[in-house]
Amino acid sequence: MALGVQNPSMVDSRTRSEVEAEVIADYRASSPRSAALHEAARRVMPGGDTRTVAFHAPYPLVITQGRGCRVQDADGRTYVDLLNNYTSLIHGHAHPAVVAAVSERLPFGTAFPAPNEAQTRLAQIIVDRVASVDMVRFCNSGSEAVMNALRAARAFTNRDLIVKMEGGYHGTYDDVEVSVRPDPRDPAAGPDRAPTAVLGTRGVPENTIDNVLVTPLNDIEAVERLMRERGTEIAAVIVEPVMGSAGMVPGDQAFVEALRALTLEHEALLIFDEVMSFRLEPGGMQQHYRVRPDLTTFAKIIGGGFPVGGFGGRASVMEQFDPLSPAPLSQSGTFNGNLITMVAGVAAMEAYTPAEVDRINGLGSRLRDGLRTALEEAGVPAAVTGYGSFAGVHFGATGVRTYRDAALADKGLARLLHLVLLLEGIYVAPRLMMCASTAMDDATIDEVLAGFRRAIGAIRPVLAA
Ligand code: PMP
Repeated sequence: MALGVQNPSMVDSRTRSEVEAEVIADYRASSPRSAALHEAARRVMPGGDTRTVAFHAPYPLVITQGRGCRVQDADGRTYVDLLNNYTSLIHGHAHPAVVAAVSERLPFGTAFPAPNEAQTRLAQIIVDRVASVDMVRFCNSGSEAVMNALRAARAFTNRDLIVKMEGGYHGTYDDVEVSVRPDPRDPAAGPDRAPTAVLGTRGVPENTIDNVLVTPLNDIEAVERLMRERGTEIAAVIVEPVMGSAGMVPGDQAFVEALRALTLEHEALLIFDEVMSFRLEPGGMQQHYRVRPDLTTFAKIIGGGFPVGGFGGRASVMEQFDPLSPAPLSQSGTFNGNLITMVAGVAAMEAYTPAEVDRINGLGSRLRDGLRTALEEAGVPAAVTGYGSFAGVHFGATGVRTYRDAALADKGLARLLHLVLLLEGIYVAPRLMMCASTAMDDATIDEVLAGFRRAIGAIRPVLAA
């Protein structure tokens, strides 16, 4: 193998592009079957995949099975899974209670255009856990949850504008595909403390940005100014309590409190997008902040591994969806609340007890501490972010508190280390986002940290450069 750990006594003078070429060659050599399957897939799906985030160069591994905290690829190699389908598999893969609940249900039909009892059970679990939520509704993705929550807020306030954080990711609905990952060095993105809204992708109508204002996370003055100037037009402020896609960056307590105070003052709604962060405390991150938003969006863990979304909040806002109300809002979806997702969700949430939340948050701190130590000891400048069971690594960054802090980190190095970690049997996101699951214990985290140390050792000259 070309890569290997270099003899520390020898001077390693490989350039970054030489190291990259060696890593890619090793990756190809270790995954011939994934490569062949990828070629076949490319003929019928653009890029050979059907989910932009799941693609990475030279090609993603085809995963054939998972159990607990481990997955296996098409070439028979196994990995510790620290991605957990982008944080959604709170128990890892094939949790026995979820498998049993779904298997029991399958022979009797999966979806009916009618209510089912499992919906009410899952709704009750969420209402019991999340202090601000009186009522919920289900849909099939986090994107739909956000779309419905924004519609509810606009209908309730009779206003159109929404405020989102720069770098905030809320799914694929057009109105939130704004300033998701702008280049901070591009003048079009505006100044650091007063960013300009920019479309996140081609294909979204130009005038979408007329309805969306962006502000930096953790900058109280900036959002105060925005609310002072445009407050009377703003339907809602939407925020991820821990920015996920931007790199696991938590909101400061004072900032989150300021959002609550400002939205109340200007009679706008506050929406917490807890699609990712719900797993971080039994009642979501709002429990940690002791702040009650008007609406909350859910997805990921509440479906037990099946497609899901949900949104809920104050009864007065949610009752707009009651078909018997005077001017009801419509919320349709052929598979909303389907039985399989609902029974899987109930089983997964029942197994995710407050003690388990605590336990995996502890695994998260063990992971973050270990990553920091490994990077420091190797002399690699990097910031480690996160909260609870989440961790993110940002090369060349320090004190990451906003999207721009994280965006200026060296993404190329992250992608390179990602491939090396795969070669070490550690499965993380290409942007080095990681999370713990209940299928892990201290020994799993230590195994990951040992692999991480080997990975940074193998490419240390380019990491520490
Ligand atoms: N909001 C947040 C905070 C998310 O992290 C995501 C997905 N990663 C979404 C919304 C969209 O969810 P989905 O992919 O289920 O549409």
